Amino acid sequence: MEKALTALVVEDNKSVRELIVIALKRIPGLEAIEANHGVEALEKLEGIQPDIILTDINMPVMDGMTLLKHVRANESLAKVPIVIITTEHAAADKARAIALGATSYITKPIRAPRLLKEVRNLLKV
Ligand SMILES: [Mg+2]
Repeated sequence: MEKALTALVVEDNKSVRELIVIALKRIPGLEAIEANHGVEALEKLEGIQPDIILTDINMPVMDGMTLLKHVRANESLAKVPIVIITTEHAAADKARAIALGATSYITKPIRAPRLLKEVRNLLKV
C-alpha cells in the first residue's frame, strides 16, 4: 500500500503551479493541495497537515517569506519541510528564507527531475 502524502503548493503563477503539481503526481500516493498566495495557504493549513510545503516567494496578498514565518511559528507545522521556489540570481532571498526556517530551495525555471529529486529526498520516498 502506498503511503498517503500531502504536499501544499503555494504559487501565484498558475502555469508554474500546474507544472509543479503535475511533477508531484509522479510520486505514488501523493496528493497536491494548491494555494495562490500565503493567506490562502494558511486557510488550507487549517484543514490539512502537509508532509511538505513548496512555496514561491513573490506573491500577492501574502508573500512566501511571511508565510514561512507563520508556518514556523505554528508548533504543529514547525517541522514540516519547506522548499522555497526562487528566481535565479536571488541569493539574498535564498539566504533569508533559510534563516527564516526554509529547508531547501529550488530555482526557476522549474525542472521536474530536479524538483522530484528534492521532494523525494525530503519525504524519504
Ligand atoms: Mg510569484
